[in-house]
Amino acid sequence: MVMASLTMDVVTTIGTGIVIGALLIIGGLLIGVWLGRRGNAAETNQQLRAHELLEMIRALSSWTHGMAGEVTQYETHLRSLLAGSSEPGGTGESPWLEEILKSNEQLRVRLQESERLLDEKAKEVDSYLSEARTDTLTGLPNRRAFDAELARRFAQWQRYGTPLSIAIVDVDHFKKFNDTYGHLAGDFVLASVARALADTVRDSDMVARLGGEEFAIVMPSTAIADGAHAARRFCEAIRGKTWEFEGIALKVTVSVGVAQAIDSDLAASLVKRSDQAMYAAKETGRNRAYFHDGVTSQPVGDSPARLSAASRSGVPAHLESVCDGLRERLIEVTRK
Ligand code: GH3
Ligand code: MG
Ligand code: MG
Repeated sequence: MVMASLTMDVVTTIGTGIVIGALLIIGGLLIGVWLGRRGNAAETNQQLRAHELLEMIRALSSWTHGMAGEVTQYETHLRSLLAGSSEPGGTGESPWLEEILKSNEQLRVRLQESERLLDEKAKEVDSYLSEARTDTLTGLPNRRAFDAELARRFAQWQRYGTPLSIAIVDVDHFKKFNDTYGHLAGDFVLASVARALADTVRDSDMVARLGGEEFAIVMPSTAIADGAHAARRFCEAIRGKTWEFEGIALKVTVSVGVAQAIDSDLAASLVKRSDQAMYAAKETGRNRAYFHDGVTSQPVGDSPARLSAASRSGVPAHLESVCDGLRERLIEVTRK
């Protein structure tokens, strides 16, 4: 009986060792191949593969953890067998069992080491992924992170009707600023603008640097009336700040455009409409905020009543004014 049980244990232990070894080699190869080719493949693919790889590493690590636990259980089991075999009348195979115990111990140590290595690799891939989503100058999420967040919030809006607004913020006359104060001062101010915007938004909003001197804010659960107020706040926050760099007091202004997702929108057209509103702010003198009502761009603060009406009904403010005109005309006609 004892011999049969022992043979089973030996076979199981050896079999387990082979399977674990093979899996770890495969895991190691995958990680090695991925890390080696990181610079070559197309970036988007790379991100997807990194995510998949991270999941695989985590699964492998948790599996290794489980196996280390099972090997410890085998060890306990073998020890009890060893105790039984050394008793008077036992099989007297203790040296052989001790050998198995030693191999088991080695296997457990290797599994624990593999688990540690896998966790290290998971951290490496995780930090690669987070670096790939962060803008180095400002520390804000970058364009890629913005696209991902926008897609997520846009899907929420489509599925649950949760309102969604986004704002585009562009620093005014920044080329001239660089020419006047130098590129380093420009970098310093961009990082300062990023901080000021991040301090101004709500916790659920995301501020991202789209590139150059352009930022975007994703504002979930925000209809246009609140989005427009936020846009005005962004303008005021930047206008009100002075930053000192190498003894020189520096100031900039921003132009902001904001739009709320409407039925005819795709994520890209929502960005485009916010951009159009931002350009309207530029064209009318900069250092101000405009909102896009679905048809045209209008200055923020011009008509709060119309803004909130548009936000409540989902009807563009432009259409509201057309309706007002028609109503008045109808009253005139029916009076005649
Ligand atoms: P506008 O008010 O119409 O937006 O004018 P602008 O000068 O801000 O716009 P333009 O697109 O003509 O110039 C953008 C400038 O932003 C030019 C570029 O050198 C500067 N810029 C972009 N990225 C950086 C950066 O990372 N650091 C610094 N210092 N400057 C940058
Ligand atoms: Mg600019
Ligand atoms: Mg720009």
